[in-house]
Amino acid sequence: MKVTSHELLPWTEAAFDTFFSSQERRAHAYMLAGHSGLGKTIFAQQLAKSLLCQEEEKHACGQCQSCRLFESGSHPDLHVLQCEKRMVEIEDLFAIYAPRYLEDENKRKKRKKPSAIIAIDQVRRVIPDINTRPHLSACRLILINTAEDLNINAANSLLKSLEEPPSDSYFILISHDPCRLLPTLRSRCNWIDFRPPDKQQAMHWLSTQLADQVDISQLLDRASGIPLRALKIANGTRHSDERQVTQQMLQLAHRQIDPTSAAAVMIKTGELKSILETIQLWLSRLIRLKISSQNTTLPKKEGDKPLIDLGNRLNFRQLYAFLDKVSKSKQLAGGPLDPLLALEDDLISWQAMFSK
Ligand SMILES: [Zn+2]
Repeated sequence: MKVTSHELLPWTEAAFDTFFSSQERRAHAYMLAGHSGLGKTIFAQQLAKSLLCQEEEKHACGQCQSCRLFESGSHPDLHVLQCEKRMVEIEDLFAIYAPRYLEDENKRKKRKKPSAIIAIDQVRRVIPDINTRPHLSACRLILINTAEDLNINAANSLLKSLEEPPSDSYFILISHDPCRLLPTLRSRCNWIDFRPPDKQQAMHWLSTQLADQVDISQLLDRASGIPLRALKIANGTRHSDERQVTQQMLQLAHRQIDPTSAAAVMIKTGELKSILETIQLWLSRLIRLKISSQNTTLPKKEGDKPLIDLGNRLNFRQLYAFLDKVSKSKQLAGGPLDPLLALEDDLISWQAMFSK
């Protein structure tokens, strides 16, 4: 299986530089600690790939045998300990490496749900492997994702290796919740703390990931300043809202629903402002599809067909006029207007554009 690697996130670059600034002072056990959503996993992947690369010290070349095996999920010197639950739920590069040290299959089959802990068996199985020489690269990596999943026995069994690691080994532990870790485990690692970036930097990065119309500042506030969490909220909510909006707008155009009922359905999904924002985003997509559908050489997705057909029933002047109307309503949203009536008014205009 081929896995796409991610670029290091900008607010983690300084820590990456520090790690590679001095080989002599480099420790052999690191704890990447901080809230979920700050880029620790991507950092760990880039760190592992770079340390294992046979050509370059800091920026993995992407070409050598090590880099290619790393990306394909089969590097012999990367050892990943994860619990089964994480492996099943999060399909990333580490999940591909994880099965090697999962618990015994018979034990796993007896459980109703995937285990949420890293058990002592898993640690015991990895230890003999780290006492041999690396197979391919100059060093080997033992990645523990996450450290708080280690149960007490597993953590204790790991301590000795952390204290006296083989010189060609690195232990990288990830923790989203370092307060839960054993003090002995905490004290044996060098810490790399991940904190939310300053708002300016987070907003700039999010602006490269999201559509222009999204209120990034507000989104970031909802996500407590954590950029990847903000991205999840944006994608999650927009996705569900947009599906709802698509359905209502199509039904209105086909006169399968009246504007009052459609407005009542939509208003249940959120505040007027966010609904109008979703309609704006949806209209922008409709316009883009209409433009691209006129180019017969571009491939078309089957799922886009209802929207392309809808777009073809209107001309660009009508579409932009309606987009303008929605934008104006959005500016007024939150004021003295009754949200339901305001939305209904826009939907009446929308339906009126489609002849009976
Ligand atoms: Zn390489």
